Amino acid sequence: MLSIHQVDKTYVGKTAVNALSGINLQIKSGEMVAIMGPSGSGKSTLLNLMGGLDVPTSGQVIVANVDLAMKNEKERSLFRRSKVSYIFQAYHLMPTLKVTQNVALPLHLAGVTPREILGRVANVLREVGLEARGEHLPDELSGGERQRVAIARALVTNAPLLLADEPTGNLDTARGSEILQLLKKINKEHGTTIVMVTHDPSAASACARLIRLRDGKVEGDSA
Ligand code: ADP
Repeated sequence: MLSIHQVDKTYVGKTAVNALSGINLQIKSGEMVAIMGPSGSGKSTLLNLMGGLDVPTSGQVIVANVDLAMKNEKERSLFRRSKVSYIFQAYHLMPTLKVTQNVALPLHLAGVTPREILGRVANVLREVGLEARGEHLPDELSGGERQRVAIARALVTNAPLLLADEPTGNLDTARGSEILQLLKKINKEHGTTIVMVTHDPSAASACARLIRLRDGKVEGDSA
């Protein structure tokens, strides 16, 4: 699913910052992986490369057979639409759109017919246990419910890779644990490859594999 070969990422500004150096990683289809490491160790940079939001300074980032380092911005944007979905610590829902409209958004962008959108949105809302909340606005929901909406929005496109940035970061232990159970279920039942950046030890232990970064390098990998 994901092959990272000899990747360096240097941010050039007033001073150059080596955010990642000499990263090599293989992640197989269907894996569920946590990335941990101190602040500044390169976790977000790595997640951005995996999702095609940015390109490496050198090396290869191959995701779903596409070499992202060789693609321009427009090609990467098309790639992101079909192959990758995201969830974030702060949910990133559109506050003026109802739950059903938030979940439908990526399908509208992809040009799916309204009739098919209705069916797919209903299915994923049922899957995350929010079938009764479709007509609500995000700020009428709890944090755990908002993250479920974000997961439904991630699921609805059937993207093979789900990237999560601190998915339990804003939730209490009980709510966080429900979200982790849901992600595990999706990983198992849909075979979605999940990579999450986290500081939360219980999130890391929900994953079958833990990669530790330090100073832009892989310090440990349980694979
Ligand atoms: P983490 O997610 O582990 O906190 P990051 O990937 O955000 O780490 O950052 C790794 C290093 O790269 C840090 O030293 C950070 O300051 C630097 N960095 C991140 N983004 C940028 C940027 N856009 N411009 C310059 N430096 C950056």
